Amino acid sequence: MTQKPEFVEQASQLLGPRGFTSDPEMVSPWLTDWRGRYTGTAMGLASPASTGDVAALVKLCSEHDVAIVPQGGNSGMSGGATPDDSGTAIVLSLRRMNTIRALDKDEKTVTCDAGVILQTLHDTAEAARLRFPLTLGGKGSATIGGLISTNAGGTQVLRHGTMRAQVIGLEAVLPDGQVFNALTPLKKDNRGFDLKQLLIGSEGTLGIVTAATLRLLPEIAGRTVIWAGLPSIIHARQFLLHCQRIAGDHLEGFEVLPAHCLAAVLDHLPDVRSPLNGAHPWNALIELVGNEDTVETITPLAEAMLEKALDTELIEDATIAANESQAEAFWLLRDSISPAERAIGPAMQHDISVAVDRMAQFVEAAVPAVENRFPSSTAIAFGHLGDGNVHFHVLAPKNATAGEWEVAEGKEISGFVHDLVTEWGGSISAEHGIGQMKVAELGRLGDPAALSMMRSVKQALDPKGLFNPGKLVPPE
Ligand SMILES: Cc1cc2nc3c(=O)[nH]c(=O)nc-3n(C[C@H](O)[C@H](O)[C@H](O)COP(=O)(O)OP(=O)(O)OC[C@H]3O[C@@H](n4cnc5c(N)ncnc54)[C@H](O)[C@@H]3O)c2cc1C
Repeated sequence: MTQKPEFVEQASQLLGPRGFTSDPEMVSPWLTDWRGRYTGTAMGLASPASTGDVAALVKLCSEHDVAIVPQGGNSGMSGGATPDDSGTAIVLSLRRMNTIRALDKDEKTVTCDAGVILQTLHDTAEAARLRFPLTLGGKGSATIGGLISTNAGGTQVLRHGTMRAQVIGLEAVLPDGQVFNALTPLKKDNRGFDLKQLLIGSEGTLGIVTAATLRLLPEIAGRTVIWAGLPSIIHARQFLLHCQRIAGDHLEGFEVLPAHCLAAVLDHLPDVRSPLNGAHPWNALIELVGNEDTVETITPLAEAMLEKALDTELIEDATIAANESQAEAFWLLRDSISPAERAIGPAMQHDISVAVDRMAQFVEAAVPAVENRFPSSTAIAFGHLGDGNVHFHVLAPKNATAGEWEVAEGKEISGFVHDLVTEWGGSISAEHGIGQMKVAELGRLGDPAALSMMRSVKQALDPKGLFNPGKLVPPE
């Protein structure tokens, strides 16, 4: 039985049968995050079709003190789009708002609704011989609104930056129902605070993103993908600097993975072969791209780059993908790390960053520190070395019971890892956001001045605390 029948009736009238339901069977699929870690309850699911509908619904929610949990593709990693179990909130899905409003080929910009899926944006840009320079494994479900609200990263941040760097205009509904319209891209605008940047990465706690104007780039004419074997992560850092020096702006991606990850992926995908003969303590996956004028030069550039790296013993071995399907196969190895590890057993996963030039040393120090402190666990780090961001996973001992281990030793491990990162001046969330998963840890380890500013901003914009309660902003 719903707690607010009057609200439910008015919301149904406002949005119609396609736009609002309180039928538990219809609502239930939206109450669990994709990894199955969090499940909540909600008094309804709203699926508005326009910014005007979102604004009217927000006003109605404010009148009835109903909390709102915005949800895009539900591909987030931190439980941010899942309501708590009080049943006092509604889930607001942006999925019906999925129109590409305009694409300007000359200015290389696209304006789209928040519910547009990343893959659709890629396809739209490609059809116009342009590209959107941000991608990630969840591109088939992640939405523009979700990517903006989590300031998502991915594998091209090295060259193009996070979502923050792609957004040049924003439209959002604020907790009082006003529409903040800053969609027009202005190259110069000094009218005070950059409010759109405040909303980016705010995880639905300050506004509901309804549309955005994003930058596009000219399409690439081709890519050269390399797999290299390295003796250590310190060598990987030096190799990255080497690649940046030689390849410059052609360097689009640089990912690292230790031998353990590659072995797990090869076990998980029996039809896939290792790119190199023999195992190496570390592996690097590198992508160079070229436009029409430069595409012929990037493979010779890659060859020269690798030859020098082999001569100076930065790397032990390397190979260049012979064609596009081999390039895809190399990337498949990288993109399969998470499912491969899930198949091994429970793990505590940490998305962390330290200063770029210290990340290799951090990994060298943190892996043995964790394994000594928690014998029988296995620590591995992989990912975006060039961004100072690795996914630091600690695998449970073989005899651990899934479900029990995470809440007992697993929790202690996460605290230990987060303490280490904080000692190194780093961040406990590099790209996945805080959501409900890390809110307590942010409260424990966050800089007091930063926390106080976050609470003040939240209080000023959402004094009733109705926008995504319990997420991102730690209570005092
Ligand atoms: C296989 C896989 C690989 C991934 N790889 C990466 C990666 O490399 N890098 C990375 O950064 N992320 C990665 N992710 C995580 C995920 O794709 C991103 O966090 C993405 O930004 C979430 O988008 P979404 O639309 O699914 O948002 P959701 O999961 O629905 O929501 C995420 C957060 O944003 C809020 N939100 C959603 N839409 C709006 C809106 N319109 N207005 C206000 N708030 C909103 C929600 O309330 C929640 O707090 C990956 C996910 C998967 C499944």
